Amino acid sequence: MEMKIEKLDLAGPSSGKPVVIAGPCSAESREQVLSTAEGLAAKGIKIFRAGIWKPRTKPGCFEGVGSEGLAWMKEVKQKTGMLLATEVATPHHVLEALKAGMDILWIGARTVTNPFAVQELADALKGVDVPILVKNPVNPDLELWIGALERLYNAGLKKLGVIHRGFSSPDKNIYRNAPLWHIPIELKRRFPSMTVFCDPSHLGGKKELIAPISQQALDLNFDGLMIESHCNPSCALSDASQQLTPDALDYILKMLVVKDNVQTTESIVLLRKQIDEIDERILELLAKRMRISGEIGVYKKEHNMPVLQTGRYSDILKGRASMGMEMNLGEEFVSDIMKLIHEESVKVQLKIE
Ligand code: PEP
Ligand code: MN
Repeated sequence: MEMKIEKLDLAGPSSGKPVVIAGPCSAESREQVLSTAEGLAAKGIKIFRAGIWKPRTKPGCFEGVGSEGLAWMKEVKQKTGMLLATEVATPHHVLEALKAGMDILWIGARTVTNPFAVQELADALKGVDVPILVKNPVNPDLELWIGALERLYNAGLKKLGVIHRGFSSPDKNIYRNAPLWHIPIELKRRFPSMTVFCDPSHLGGKKELIAPISQQALDLNFDGLMIESHCNPSCALSDASQQLTPDALDYILKMLVVKDNVQTTESIVLLRKQIDEIDERILELLAKRMRISGEIGVYKKEHNMPVLQTGRYSDILKGRASMGMEMNLGEEFVSDIMKLIHEESVKVQLKIE
């Protein structure tokens, strides 16, 4: 489905990149909310986030203070002028958040996995003018992410953006949620004007990873960052390990390098030309490989041989993986490519009449 999405202008036309949304994982008390917000405002942060209703993995954890916290956020706005953002997961949250004057709403990763929940939110949001940021679903499913955007778009909401917060993965790695950068990159390719945030707090799950992930997001031309910040992180009631004090956040933001996207120098033009040519050669070779594969298919048919020869397939996978490693290519990368090529070859041979 085609969506005409305009770039969001969240922090005013004069704001430079990146737009930063910062604040605690959860609003915990009036003092904690105000003290964090004042610290952030003093560092020039323009958009304040806080979770009011918290989706927790298990019952019995701190599940947010509920609507009471919205009043503390309103006070933040009166005192600092910051815009306010919070997560909504049910139509009731939408009602309460809008009544309290929230400027931006986001839909959390767990909610985005459920099309029924997203549709209920879309229906509740009909006719509303506030920007809605859609986090990626917990599972690495780009279509589900886009589907959520389409449900909101169909409800008349045009001020849409996304937040990349990483994906649940059974594989052990240093991140709380696997980055799988190719997924938000593909989303950007399909919707070039979409405002794309990265949330390095939930992605990395640790303070130490916030700077490198943020830099990577900026290098990938993301528009903004959503970062968790707490006046006293070690005592936070949720996500204590991934929150920064306003001072530490400011320090990191000052270290980030925003690269110039406008200038394309002569040398990058030449390098890109080489890449274009190499891609063309790869495609020509693939086409040739498929033609030969077709000829083998004809031979197999004439000699009554089965299409799939398991021994040959494992030889190809093993042989190519070690060949690739000698060329400094990742083993998994080569194996994934070979599996795809082999699958296509089998398809070609099965089609032979
Ligand atoms: C949050 O932003 O505090 C949150 C719950 O995030 P996510 O939906 O990405 O887990
Ligand atoms: Mn959190």
